[in-house]
Amino acid sequence: MLHWVELDHCMQIKYNIRTLKPSATLAINEYSNELIRQGKKVYKLGFGQSPFPVPDEVVNALIEHAHEKDYLPVKGLYVLREAVASYHTRRTMMSVTPEDVLIGPGSKELLFIAQLSFNGDLIVPAPSWVSYSPQAQITQKECFWIDTSSNPKRLLNASLLESFCSMHPDRRFMVILNYPSNPTGATYTSSELKALAEVARKYKLLIISDEIYGELTHNGEHRSLTEFYREGTIVSSGLSKWCGAGGWRLGTFTFPEELRWLSDAMAVVASETFTATSAPIQYAAVKAFEFGPNIELYVNQSRVILQCISQYVYGELTSVGLTMPEPQGGFYLFPDFAQFREKLNKKGITTSSQLCRRILEETGVALLPGVDFGQSPEELSARLSYVDFDGKKALDYIKQHGNVKDINAVAPNMVIACQQLKEWLL
Ligand code: PMP
Ligand code: GLU
Repeated sequence: MLHWVELDHCMQIKYNIRTLKPSATLAINEYSNELIRQGKKVYKLGFGQSPFPVPDEVVNALIEHAHEKDYLPVKGLYVLREAVASYHTRRTMMSVTPEDVLIGPGSKELLFIAQLSFNGDLIVPAPSWVSYSPQAQITQKECFWIDTSSNPKRLLNASLLESFCSMHPDRRFMVILNYPSNPTGATYTSSELKALAEVARKYKLLIISDEIYGELTHNGEHRSLTEFYREGTIVSSGLSKWCGAGGWRLGTFTFPEELRWLSDAMAVVASETFTATSAPIQYAAVKAFEFGPNIELYVNQSRVILQCISQYVYGELTSVGLTMPEPQGGFYLFPDFAQFREKLNKKGITTSSQLCRRILEETGVALLPGVDFGQSPEELSARLSYVDFDGKKALDYIKQHGNVKDINAVAPNMVIACQQLKEWLL
């Protein structure tokens, strides 16, 4: 009888949702924290969260506005939309107005309601961040993964996009491009963006350019696809990465005038679901997007720290034969363990999920398997987030020393985690 009742509940969940599991990134974070609570030593390279504190002046702005209690306009607080528009105008040298900006409770939610509102299917490169494809499944879209293994950077390029689109000339597609990339850390040059823009224009693609790690391009030279394909590009960003405020939940979409219809449709969905983003957070975000000199310094220093740590980890892991795109931005690496396949097979490891489970059990290093990013289960790849360090201490260190010569002084867990991985492999 009990069995029947359980089955009945299960049947009431729509099929497209019943087959999904909780998001891999959030699951590894909660599992790692559970292991730590049980007294185990875990190196938290599974979850991608900024290690840096929210800048003081943004925290102070939040304190000042804690009393803001009214519901705000659905598309966002106007002064914040103005600040976001000026920020994008400065970054891209293109005129962006407050009317082009939509604020949401995290860019993840905006990505979701964009998919929900758009009448067409989804294209994403493999590998890509874990949530795009499940969002397509929830919104009942077909999700096409384009294999990028022919490109050493593991990014979608113009010729791959062209060959896919030429096979489906009559379909409407939304493409999500993310650079610097989660999970590979690679990013585009201007000429690669220009070439992608030409294909996008030819096939009238709607592109969501997920630039949430744009400010964290290590050399500070991020360029946006919107500069080359303005009419069809929505830029997605937010406070989570460069401002260290993932838990504050604030994301931004910036539209060209040609896509105002989509922004309006998304605002209808927002008005019937989350209503508006938290008021005090929106007031505080104005300070962040004004991007004053202290914030500029904070972001510059964050970049230097991330660059030094990424180069260290990249050097350590490639020295033993792991291969991966060189880190250029954000806080991820995507090592491929193919060189060790035979050895790993002998240990009973034939998939990326088994690989990550065994590494976690035997070394305490948490990683996320390549399969969660759209790779075939048998590809022995994993995403490594090099953020297991105290961001505040790292910023204090760099203020004093100007650079990070001694990784061990700034990120001792990253040093041990690399050591553990190397020993486990050799
Ligand atoms: N895009 C990418 C590539 C991400 O890694 C994340 C994870 N934070 C998001 C979007 C969503 O970020 P948020 O909802 O915190 O703005
Ligand atoms: N973006 C982060 C990651 O890839 C985590 C946050 C999330 O997935 O919502 O690990």
